[in-house]
Amino acid sequence: SDVVNRVAAGEVIHRPSNALKELVENSLDAGAKSIAVTTREGGNKLLRVQDDGHGVRIEDLPLLCERHATSKIEKFEDLARCESFGFRGEALASMSYVAHVSATTMAAGATHATRATYTDGKMDAEGAKPIAGVLGTTISVENLFYNVVTRRKALKSASEEYSKVLEVLQRYAALRTDVAFTCRKHGESRATLHTPVAQSRVERLQAIYGPTVARDLKKLDFDSELSKKKFDFKLQVDGLVSGGNYHSKKTTFILFINSRLVECAPLKRACESVYAAILPKAEKPFVFMHLRLPFEDVDVNVHPTKQEVHFLHQEAIVELIQSKLEKILLATNS
Ligand code: ADP
Ligand code: MG
Repeated sequence: SDVVNRVAAGEVIHRPSNALKELVENSLDAGAKSIAVTTREGGNKLLRVQDDGHGVRIEDLPLLCERHATSKIEKFEDLARCESFGFRGEALASMSYVAHVSATTMAAGATHATRATYTDGKMDAEGAKPIAGVLGTTISVENLFYNVVTRRKALKSASEEYSKVLEVLQRYAALRTDVAFTCRKHGESRATLHTPVAQSRVERLQAIYGPTVARDLKKLDFDSELSKKKFDFKLQVDGLVSGGNYHSKKTTFILFINSRLVECAPLKRACESVYAAILPKAEKPFVFMHLRLPFEDVDVNVHPTKQEVHFLHQEAIVELIQSKLEKILLATNS
């Protein structure tokens, strides 16, 4: 029933920032080079993501918000990849059960854009309508939890939700230096995040987090395959971490595994302990890390919205990263 679907949807989508994560991942999956986010009331009233990706074909629009409708399982390897990230074709469907979802999209070869609105997994009866537009897709999610009072009441204030939305977007912007990101509150001309395509990750981090962060970053890059004899796992690390001149009361720990934003508490703790031991005066670190692991080794535990990950050889990998970090910080300290 719709009530059951609504409850299930509320488990997948529980606040604007995690809806945003899904929308941004879709835009990136669609090959977007530019992603613009607009919110009203921190996303509680409106969350809009506009991209210049490959768009959705008109014939695919009716199924856009259908459960398990995904265009992304095409090859067998994809299946493993998809399973490792838990759920497919659930995000837009879930949003349509707990919010007013609309899509405006234009795919290559189309003569005009098309707009459709969705309720409870289905395209609304008035159907898809032609509209002026450009290549790409804009998804709007309005009035989140208009039909689930308890969930709506659990939403935080506009400013709290907005800062979570911004945080998620900043993190994707940190990863994808090849994509331009903006984030703005509806009606405000000044964007709170504006990152043109960056030349390097340091420049990108400076655009996002400011010069204090960017000034004192060390590279944490390595490839475990290069030391095959010692390790029986594949791991590639591409990271930037703060040095001794960076001071903050709060840890910023940005972790991507295979381009998906995740959390890994043991890895975060391990990194913090290295800083506490080597740079105690620097207080809390800034850490950006992108790990690449074989897809089949990564497992998102328990539930789609749980960002906490588990992966094969986790302890050994955490230890290895910890020891590389130690070396880097000791070198800067001397
Ligand atoms: P999934 O991403 O797991 O496939 P979603 O519910 O997030 O499931 O999206 C459903 C489908 O809608 C996608 O598989 C894709 O075909 C299409 N889609 C969603 N967002 C976009 C977008 N921004 N650009 C192009 N296609 C999109
Ligand atoms: Mg998706």
